[in-house]
Amino acid sequence: MSEKSVRFYCDICKKTLTIKLSKEFQDKLKKNAHKWPYPLIFPHNKHWAVIFLDENMVERGVTTSKVEFKEEK
Ligand SMILES: [Zn+2]
Repeated sequence: MSEKSVRFYCDICKKTLTIKLSKEFQDKLKKNAHKWPYPLIFPHNKHWAVIFLDENMVERGVTTSKVEFKEEK
């Protein structure tokens, strides 16, 4: 297993983006994933893309948001 590229369409940017996942990152994702597909949060340009990945780092769906909720404490 080596570095893998994940291509997805961001409907806020309105373009296809590519992120490169190192072997170390893939191992970290697999270690933390308690279910598949597992959502990977990708912040960029002041919004978020949530990319659902399967065990083979293949994109299984994408959603986007400009809103993050932080509870005041
Ligand atoms: Zn975007």
